[in-house]
Amino acid sequence: MGLRAQPTLLGLDVADLRDLLGPGTPAFRARQLYDALYKRNVADLEETTALPKELRDRLRSEMPHGRLTVDQRFNSADGTVRYLLKLPADGRSVETVLMPQEQRHTICISSQVGCPVDCRFCLTAQMGLERSLSAGEIVGQVLHVCREHGLDPRAAHCNIVMMGMGEPLLNLPNVLKATRILCDDNGVGFSQRRITVSTSGIVPKIAELGAADIRPKLAISLNASHEEQRRELMPITKKYHLADLMEACRAYPLRPWEFLMFEYVMMRGVNDADADARRVVSLLGNLKAKVNIIALNPGPGIPYETPDPERVDSFQKIVMRSMPCYIRRPRGLDIYAACGQLKKMQTPGLVSLKE
Ligand code: SAH
Ligand code: SF4
Repeated sequence: MGLRAQPTLLGLDVADLRDLLGPGTPAFRARQLYDALYKRNVADLEETTALPKELRDRLRSEMPHGRLTVDQRFNSADGTVRYLLKLPADGRSVETVLMPQEQRHTICISSQVGCPVDCRFCLTAQMGLERSLSAGEIVGQVLHVCREHGLDPRAAHCNIVMMGMGEPLLNLPNVLKATRILCDDNGVGFSQRRITVSTSGIVPKIAELGAADIRPKLAISLNASHEEQRRELMPITKKYHLADLMEACRAYPLRPWEFLMFEYVMMRGVNDADADARRVVSLLGNLKAKVNIIALNPGPGIPYETPDPERVDSFQKIVMRSMPCYIRRPRGLDIYAACGQLKKMQTPGLVSLKE
């Protein structure tokens, strides 16, 4: 039986690979192939001599591997590495960032090319949405970084955050499939505790995420302390109201070890007052929550400014009386790799949801 028309090997799970190889191939070959693709993370199946040459030749002619290649690489003075990785399916590229630290490494991956959500403070929003990524393209970003930097996903000090380009919950099936492969001990081998997905608050999808047996931890980009302010900063709030978002958070089935993470991008004179901090505390009061403050990273066309450090400190002190609250330091500012700065240089043919 010939190989079925699937876009790439990357993104296929064992059952898919078994289907692909067909009944004429022993079932253990699918496991071997899965092992080579994800656990051993080979750049080329030719390295997998455990697979018969005949099968490797057949795969090569009928199904591309799907490996991402480097379009551009930027190195920050602080050690952060920002990649524009080329997607083999159509040559578009996507942003992936590695933030090495002494104690742990964090890989920030994208879920879409561009983003259809129009947050006013985010450069990615200016791109509009080009398309969503396949599961293989999501996993491929992690595999690339691990291969390139010799990182072992099974080591305790490696985290993944789905906080690059795109709104992951608008690409949930692919995000979940990628997570299953990333978290499979026979696959890439990350722990579910080390993967976080961040959303702007696509309310109906939050319950869907919660229903998945294998899922990343959930972070919510709160960014405002009341409905009107959030509508201004994140117009998607007109569709998914803050009260409904909070309700979805209360109903979310946290695992015993899990906290809900709330991100709060702080903007000077907009949402940085002590009164905002007190409102955030009362909004999150009944939740098992942690708050991450991110001082706005400015960018061209963003009509907001970064807050005074004293404001950030004061805000943190107020929230900390009620729940853990951290300040996330920007990484890779000099190479435009920090939160909200991911926007490709030139992108013809954009589709914007605002149009
Ligand atoms: N779309 C998802 C995940 C990607 S954005 C989301 O919005 O959650 C990742 C984080 O970067 C979000 O918390 C977002 O609020 C934050 N962010 C966006 N623009 C920013 C900016 N200019 N400065 C600092 N953080 C920003
Ligand atoms: Fe999209 Fe997140 Fe940027 Fe909003 S903050 S535009 S949801 S990437």
